[in-house]
Amino acid sequence: MSMRDARSAELFERARHVLVGGVNSPVRAMRAIGRDPIFIDRAAGAYVWDVDGNAYVDYLASWGPAILGHTPPAVVEALTAALPRGTSYGAPTEREVRFAEAVRDAVPSLERLRMTSSGSEAVMGALRLARAATGREPIVKTIGGYHGAIDGLLAEAGSGATTLGVPTSPGVPAGATAATRLVPYNDLAAAEVALAGAAAIIIEPVAGNMGVVPPAAGYLAGLRAACDRTGALLILDEVITGFRIARGGAQELYGVTGDLVCYGKIIGGGLPVGAFGGRAAIMAELAPEGPCYQAGTLSGNPLATAAGLAVLAALCTPQVYEDLESGGAALEAAFDDAGVSVRINRVGSMLTPFFAPAPVTDYASATASDTARYGSFARALLAGGVYPPPSQFEAWFVSSAHSDEDLARTTAALAQAEQTSAA
Ligand SMILES: *Cc1c(COP(=O)(O)O)cnc(C)c1O
Repeated sequence: MSMRDARSAELFERARHVLVGGVNSPVRAMRAIGRDPIFIDRAAGAYVWDVDGNAYVDYLASWGPAILGHTPPAVVEALTAALPRGTSYGAPTEREVRFAEAVRDAVPSLERLRMTSSGSEAVMGALRLARAATGREPIVKTIGGYHGAIDGLLAEAGSGATTLGVPTSPGVPAGATAATRLVPYNDLAAAEVALAGAAAIIIEPVAGNMGVVPPAAGYLAGLRAACDRTGALLILDEVITGFRIARGGAQELYGVTGDLVCYGKIIGGGLPVGAFGGRAAIMAELAPEGPCYQAGTLSGNPLATAAGLAVLAALCTPQVYEDLESGGAALEAAFDDAGVSVRINRVGSMLTPFFAPAPVTDYASATASDTARYGSFARALLAGGVYPPPSQFEAWFVSSAHSDEDLARTTAALAQAEQTSAA
């Protein structure tokens, strides 16, 4: 830690005595890039400021939610208006109805929605519902796919076409992953085999949690067809991609329709939120209409729906997605202009620069990248006023608030980081 991080270092020292590892979510600790965490004081537009007063062009975007940049006026106004009316009632509100209508307006296949307080809970609900609706237990999951810190999906071990799920984390009972079948991402043949007798396959339509890995041509359509053949449900985890890569998410961009779709991150405008939905006939299995139980004290929270509605309204203008695409393209070009030799995977405003020896198409090729190199590069970037995700295996997000000037500043910082970290 240098002088520029004095206050962060002080807070981290205190934090370690009261929070596990000094943080409330592991990757924030920045161990993956070999340094201590930076404590944030505030954020606005494309920037975050740390407690030592350093400014950073932010590409973490709170891991995805900040698609309009931080504290967009529409969200601040919506929250300010909602706050004095109460923070939670445990009873229905008009705003939840408008929220669900706004989501369905963007994604017509979502005939019914259920809101939750996080993406993890949305996935949990979708899995339970898929099992209830099909009367089957096995769930197919891609290796390197992340769907929240859920027992049944904390499995990734093994290689080959299909391996039986083995828990990745101690504390996950073997029984919890016994019905989890693992297949490599982008391997349609493996998925087709694994889908026999399965309740569902859950997939990030664009992988974001092994770094960004786009679906191969025909992969998602192939999964759709395989699900139709086997009677398994296609669960699209659009917690990152929903409303980011298009207003209708991956379903719109790739022309694929999920039976159940999970959301989080962007739709809460930075407040804790998640949601899942699908056809009315499937969703009717869910309580109170059906026997499949799912509930949450703060689900459909008045502040989360206020912030979420403001974001969804802003995303109704096609111009936003043009800006996000050109911002993503500009960030990709910035690496090139700065002379950084990386392999970039990008879909719209989400991208990952891999320090990898070969094209990255799945977890195996992603994990072949040089993580030590990413670590030194990321540390140099932070020192130069650019905030990248603190791990090679995460997405960088450009927001609609990133200006040409912010991107020019990024290019300069990338070039500087390449010089100081390459040695
Ligand atoms: C972040 C994420 C989740 C979990 O959402 P939380 O709000 O962190 O619980 C699930 N799926 C994907 C694809 C994610 O990126």
